[in-house]
Amino acid sequence: MNESKRLPAVDRVLQQLPDLIEVHGRQLVTGCVRAELAAAREGLKHDLPLPDEASLLAAIRRRADDAGRANLRPVFNLTGTVLHTNLGRAQLAEEAIALMVEAARSPCALEYDLASGGRGDRDDLVSGLLAELVAGGSPDIAATIVNNNAAAVLLTLNALAQGKEAVVSRGELVEIGGAFRIPDVMRRAQVRLHEIGTTNRTHAKDYAEAIGPKTALLMKVHTSNYAVTGFTATVDEQQVASIAHAADLPFVVDLGSGTLCDFAAYGLPPEPTPQQALAAGADIVTFSGDKLLGGPQAGLIVGRKDLIAKIKKNPLKRALRVGKTTLAALEATLRLYRDPDRLAERLPTLRLLTRPVADMAALGERLLPAMQLALDGFATVSVEACASQIGSGALPVERLPSAALVCRPVAKKPGKSLLALERAFRSLPKPVIGYIRDDAYHLDLRGLEAKDEAVFAAQLPDLKL
Ligand SMILES: *Cc1c(COP(=O)(O)O)cnc(C)c1O
Repeated sequence: MNESKRLPAVDRVLQQLPDLIEVHGRQLVTGCVRAELAAAREGLKHDLPLPDEASLLAAIRRRADDAGRANLRPVFNLTGTVLHTNLGRAQLAEEAIALMVEAARSPCALEYDLASGGRGDRDDLVSGLLAELVAGGSPDIAATIVNNNAAAVLLTLNALAQGKEAVVSRGELVEIGGAFRIPDVMRRAQVRLHEIGTTNRTHAKDYAEAIGPKTALLMKVHTSNYAVTGFTATVDEQQVASIAHAADLPFVVDLGSGTLCDFAAYGLPPEPTPQQALAAGADIVTFSGDKLLGGPQAGLIVGRKDLIAKIKKNPLKRALRVGKTTLAALEATLRLYRDPDRLAERLPTLRLLTRPVADMAALGERLLPAMQLALDGFATVSVEACASQIGSGALPVERLPSAALVCRPVAKKPGKSLLALERAFRSLPKPVIGYIRDDAYHLDLRGLEAKDEAVFAAQLPDLKL
């Protein structure tokens, strides 16, 4: 008899899986049953035995659970990079999450003026707040919001300098990860890049001499992801602003990260703020929503009201605008900045960056026995000092002292064991992402807050090495 005739019919298998159908729906489960039966038939061709009923059902359940699980999965970011672009950058504050959920669930006054009953402008939801936070509520300052900071730079350049020239120092022609390069963005914005100075030194006279009839603006770009040290010279924002204004040209600053708070006050390395750039004479500043600001992915363009009006009229604005959930998260995040006393508590990005080392070390000691048990015979585990970085291009050379669970494989040549450790942690129900350095697998505890400690510990017995 043909062995494959002994495989059950699809309908018969389905009858045994009512609970799975309840969770995933009949169509998905039927597909999984067919796929597993086909795999069994294929196995027969290679002289593999038919699976027994229990293992067939288990395989179908695994397949359905895999297919039914969201692709965008939450993970533990224990890489030591707080704002990790590949892991979604900033974690949102609870206040931001709450307003996002409300905006998603119900109609909302996105472009509707509740006072007049007429049409509103979505940028107005945050424009006043931004003017308040970066310019003491100055009525001459406005803002417009786009999809990310790359879009903010593209739109600003196209709106203010299309067909003309923008002057930028050679020391600031940055490439940000993921192929954002200032010269390429300029080209796409149909702006001619007028490079001045050299890689390491640019002087005030370089800016002044570059200005001609084709010049549309002067621009500075924050060299966020690298540092030029040694024999260097840059021109500060105040000087570039006065050169631009003497020629009646706007001065644009791409800040990249752009935190709104004074990092030094939190014991962190200083990072330029939009407040400082505007006070120094910048007419427009651009920065990201999901870097140090700690909000959703967005690009914020803030500055002189007349220039913002011009930027908003550009047709690209419509193509690059953000949706209601982004604006909800951004508004709620910005509101938190009104209360600096509680900011480090409520804004996860700042909370993570300012965590005391002693906290993280104590967390490590609490988790140590469970880690040692889970890795028994495979690797030794200890709590050690390590250094985290801020990430997303912010403060590239600064390191923040932290504590890590460090796993050292017992094998003489640890290479394969390290990769196995990485894979095993990545395969947990809530994947754990660490990093390998100096023949050891590190889990930087800065990214593990006490509120998530129980979930982390509970899945350790599932580690498969
Ligand atoms: C990160 C960064 C960008 C790009 O910002 P996104 O929000 O990632 O699009 C542009 N300019 C600078 C200086 C940056 O640091």
